[in-house]
Amino acid sequence: MPLDDRRLAMLREMGVPFWQPLARTDAMEPAELQQLPAAPSPEPSRSLPPAALPAAAPPAPRVAPAPQPGPAATVAPAASAVPAAALSALSLSAADLSTLDWPALREAVAGCRACGLCEKRRQTVFGVGHPRAHWMVVGEAPGEQEDLRGEPFVGPAGRLLDQMLAALGLTRAEAAAEGAPVLTPERQVYIANTLKCRPPGNRNPEPAELAKCEPFLVRQIELVQPQVILAMGRFAVQALLRTDEPIGRLRGRVHRYQGVPLIVTYHPAYLLRNLLDKAKAWDDLCLAMETMEGLRPGAPAVVTAA
Ligand code: SF4
Repeated sequence: MPLDDRRLAMLREMGVPFWQPLARTDAMEPAELQQLPAAPSPEPSRSLPPAALPAAAPPAPRVAPAPQPGPAATVAPAASAVPAAALSALSLSAADLSTLDWPALREAVAGCRACGLCEKRRQTVFGVGHPRAHWMVVGEAPGEQEDLRGEPFVGPAGRLLDQMLAALGLTRAEAAAEGAPVLTPERQVYIANTLKCRPPGNRNPEPAELAKCEPFLVRQIELVQPQVILAMGRFAVQALLRTDEPIGRLRGRVHRYQGVPLIVTYHPAYLLRNLLDKAKAWDDLCLAMETMEGLRPGAPAVVTAA
């Protein structure tokens, strides 16, 4: 795939090194050719060379003022909070939450004691970003930093995610930075995790915990109404797609969640430990962007293999 200006910018933002072929001229001697960098190893599609360390985080873009998931961001008409008894029960369902607006849903999560993870959490980690963003990122579970700050994807993995989003011209930013370009919901992201409480010691989530917490994520997706979902990491992918298939077999095609195009990719924390797979993640981001562009009026349709 040719590296146009946008793709080159995406690679730089993600810290993925790239090589461009130099035009061979008659003046080039064989010795000069041997000094050129090695070409990247071939991949089935949109393949790139192995990734290097993340590049410096880009400056925060200015975002258009947007209603936040708070009192000013009511999407549904007046909603009643879930009774405390229901929150402490072990049978939360999507139906219980289906009428909640953003403030009521946030309150319901904060008070939830539906699974044992409530015992060790410092706080719940609800979500962040534009409440009607066109893009939605779904991750796995809060880690230590998220548990401390109450925000998903912070720390090194969060910085890498921000770089990945910046590579697409996207941001989760909620506040405007002076002098930065104004962004609209088309360029903004809502980020949520599958689990809202940290598993002790960052252990893997248990199926029962994922099942208990899922109705919150379902309602968040209903409220955001994203046009594209990026599912990051095994537990997010398997929960949303109801599958046991590994990520490697699910990548590279467009899936659907409740009719919304869903792209599978690796979790940024995994990418920090497996730099070679950063290039694959870049492929996934390209697919997501192509999918989004295919949804726009007048744009060519995206061919899906799912
Ligand atoms: S992980 Fe989810 S279901 Fe379990 S206590 Fe936290 S908010 Fe409730």
